[in-house]
Amino acid sequence: MKIVFATHNLNKLKEVQKIVPEGIELLSLNDINCFEEVPETQLTIKGNALQKAEFIKQHYHVDCFADDTGLEVEALNGEPGVFSARYAGPQRDSEDNIQKLLTNLQNQTNRKAQFKTVIALSLGDEMHTFTGICEGEITREKHGDGGFGYDPVFKATGYSQTFAEISMEEKNKIGHRGKAIQQLVSFLKSLEVK
Ligand code: IMP
Repeated sequence: MKIVFATHNLNKLKEVQKIVPEGIELLSLNDINCFEEVPETQLTIKGNALQKAEFIKQHYHVDCFADDTGLEVEALNGEPGVFSARYAGPQRDSEDNIQKLLTNLQNQTNRKAQFKTVIALSLGDEMHTFTGICEGEITREKHGDGGFGYDPVFKATGYSQTFAEISMEEKNKIGHRGKAIQQLVSFLKSLEVK
């Protein structure tokens, strides 16, 4: 079985490639000659994941899955959410995004936040979604230089270090994206045994 991961991000592709079961060949957008920007114009994380998977299915007629992730901060009514990448503007700069987040939370004692990843899987005529959530809190300052995005200011519940201070293996185990991917993999494995 061949399945396309609808992302232009090669790091994400590699990460998923490592854990898909044998018998499933993971293809990239490049492998199907898709070099265009895949639209993500919806107002929810799930909506964007579905939009990307539907776009690839409609235009390239292949089985595929797409993911979308956002950081939801309780005291900011779930912001930046679906706008996480461009929170501080279209330049999509992580440092700017972090500074805007810390400023908006300056006088807040409620620091609760969660990362949410939704994966939409388009298989034949069916669409399935898988959601991975990692709960935690936003720190008052940046800590660590690993990871990416909001990692230096996000501490998972039960951890004293931010995502930018723990190993990638640890982050994958407890993180939002890892959890969503594990659900996708379990589902694909269950198809194999049928
Ligand atoms: P994407 O949907 O995976 O492209 O994620 C959208 C945005 O959410 C990214 O540009 C980052 O700002 C943020 N983000 C997603 N995943 C993570 C993560 O694991 N750590 C920190 N920030 C993340």
